[in-house]
Amino acid sequence: MKHQTSTCSDEQTEEDRKTVLLLNASEEVITVIDWTKAVHLLFTGKATKPYNYSDCYEIKTARGVYELPRAIILIEYVHIPYRDCAINKTNILKRDQNSCQYCGKHLGKKDFTIDHIVPKSKGGQNTWTNLVASCRKCNFKKGSKTLREAKMTLLREPKEPSKDYIHIVGIDTNTNKSWSRWIEIKGELK
Ligand SMILES: [Zn+2]
Repeated sequence: MKHQTSTCSDEQTEEDRKTVLLLNASEEVITVIDWTKAVHLLFTGKATKPYNYSDCYEIKTARGVYELPRAIILIEYVHIPYRDCAINKTNILKRDQNSCQYCGKHLGKKDFTIDHIVPKSKGGQNTWTNLVASCRKCNFKKGSKTLREAKMTLLREPKEPSKDYIHIVGIDTNTNKSWSRWIEIKGELK
């Protein structure tokens, strides 16, 4: 095997958090998988290292150090039906990066509300562009008023996430900068 300049790092303390980006044969992102699954796919010949890619984890085994690529590509193309991101409270909170879209306050998983930008009473729909995560205080302040009536503004315009977005949110972006060839890293999404 040809040896490439590698950027492997030893992260034994992060054993449980080793995640591998799984790509279709066409290099479309499928999902993020646990490293043990990735090893299985590689050893059974179902996946391989992407072309010209050298970022990997170092896995210590009885036989020595195994270099596991941080992204793997399937040998055979698999058909994945288009997955819409479901509009639900959890996904809205994820899209809004766990912060109130009015005041920026960090929101806990159990302590947040979803605000209709155009209130339901004024015909507002349950859509990605009309729903935002909000703290209780801001939601109460806005009530059933429009933004203009409440004299409130949004920190950013809410958008429908791309189909891969929900899958990658929550992944530690520092250790997975090497995925930037295939995905937009959270925080850089516009
Ligand atoms: Zn708020």
